[in-house]
Amino acid sequence: MMLTGKTNKDCINTEKEEYFGEDGLLYCGICHEPKEAFYPAGKELFGKRKHPRMCACHREEYEWLEKRARQMEHDRMVSLLRERCFSDKNMYNWRFENDNGLNQKMSVAKEYVNSWEENEKENRGLNFWGGVGTGKSYMAGCIANELLEKEVTVRMTNFAEILNELNSHDTDRNEYIQSLCRARLLIIDDLGMERSTDYGLEQVYNVIDARCRSNKPLIITTNLSLQEMKNESNIARKRIYDRLLSMCIPVQVQGTNMRQIEQKEKFRKFTEKKV
Ligand SMILES: [Zn+2]
Repeated sequence: MMLTGKTNKDCINTEKEEYFGEDGLLYCGICHEPKEAFYPAGKELFGKRKHPRMCACHREEYEWLEKRARQMEHDRMVSLLRERCFSDKNMYNWRFENDNGLNQKMSVAKEYVNSWEENEKENRGLNFWGGVGTGKSYMAGCIANELLEKEVTVRMTNFAEILNELNSHDTDRNEYIQSLCRARLLIIDDLGMERSTDYGLEQVYNVIDARCRSNKPLIITTNLSLQEMKNESNIARKRIYDRLLSMCIPVQVQGTNMRQIEQKEKFRKFTEKKV
């Protein structure tokens, strides 16, 4: 059905152009469909032989209003899910359509979204690993935003935030970890535990382990190489990495340092202005 954006004003005009047909029924002057119908077999109801019916214009308007109501409800839902997903509003714009095309692995992120139903069913996550500034977080953010549009609950956070939350006196730890497990997709950005204490590592393990047992997918981004994760000698870290490696398919993200490009571009624009 094509939406023509009819308004009530159009309806009023429609009514002006109504006319009676030879059958004695009222007709719409625009679509020429009857706006009334006879009761079957010459029956009457409350002394009337005819009842109102919708002509094509009214049906179209009705469908348009219904579709608009559904769209508004969807938009409201997505905006609510987005607020719950991200702690930083800048991430709202991390979308495939805003991508600069320099990241070769973006297709992996798109494919992950396209096969979401299967990935969710198979509890299949991803591990975007590679150097600093290669766009790993952006890729994960694009996946989040695209799934949010499909009304999938996603939570994107990082361990600094998680540890802050777990160490806050106001937090019910179990409830907080459960909330991370409730999201259909959990994304933990910038996994790196170089400065973590034994206590911090224990907390990190508890979160990863709970997520693993929830049988729901997890995506992580990290500057650690796959070799570093596999060859870790510290036992506390090793058991975290082992869990992650069992849940997340490794995807190496290499190449152009986006942050350096952005810096160079800023510098170029700045010097051009000076000249
Ligand atoms: Zn009509």
